[in-house]
Amino acid sequence: MNASAGYDPERLAICADAIAGAARNFAALGWTPATSSNFSMRLDSGHVAITVSGRDKGQLGREDIMVVDMHDQPVGEHKRPSAETALHTQVYRRLPETGAVLHTHSRTQSVASRLFASDKRVRLQGWELQKAVSGYATHDSTLDIPVFANTQHMPELVDQVDAWLDSGQPLHGYLIDGHGLYTWGRSIDEARRHLEALEFLLGCELDLRRLRS
Ligand SMILES: [Zn+2]
Repeated sequence: MNASAGYDPERLAICADAIAGAARNFAALGWTPATSSNFSMRLDSGHVAITVSGRDKGQLGREDIMVVDMHDQPVGEHKRPSAETALHTQVYRRLPETGAVLHTHSRTQSVASRLFASDKRVRLQGWELQKAVSGYATHDSTLDIPVFANTQHMPELVDQVDAWLDSGQPLHGYLIDGHGLYTWGRSIDEARRHLEALEFLLGCELDLRRLRS
């Protein structure tokens, strides 16, 4: 343990390398344009490793990952965490089994968020790849991805996510209108699977809309 900061620096190094590896992959796919997007992993019950604000997500090193507590405060460093840190810590607090949170700004996610904003959700039904999301064993299921209104005032976004969770509906990811996608998993590998599946499914929904119009 790091006696002054209260977290294990070896665990931080492992998480930082895992985040950087995943981020390189997402950047190569064009999902993190112009230094957007942010990624995090749970270090322990009280600490989260998260990307520093404004860095190129295709070239992250260990120095680009910092530690915050569950109330968004930097721990043991003077870097500035992502502006959306509160959306990450919210997921770790509300869904305690979560081990990693991923947020990207792909073109598909951005367009889908605008197109489905008036419906306030994207309803996924009948797609085999719904089974890539933990808890979904068949295509014959309904997977709702809510679309929340965008704002630069994080507490308003946190409130929208809280309201959805408080309503008792399952939540595996959400879109923010004109912005991008949040998803998560028990491990970073599960979170990556969810992100890849949702990106693919949103792209399919957009294609269907195009082809049917
Ligand atoms: Zn964002």
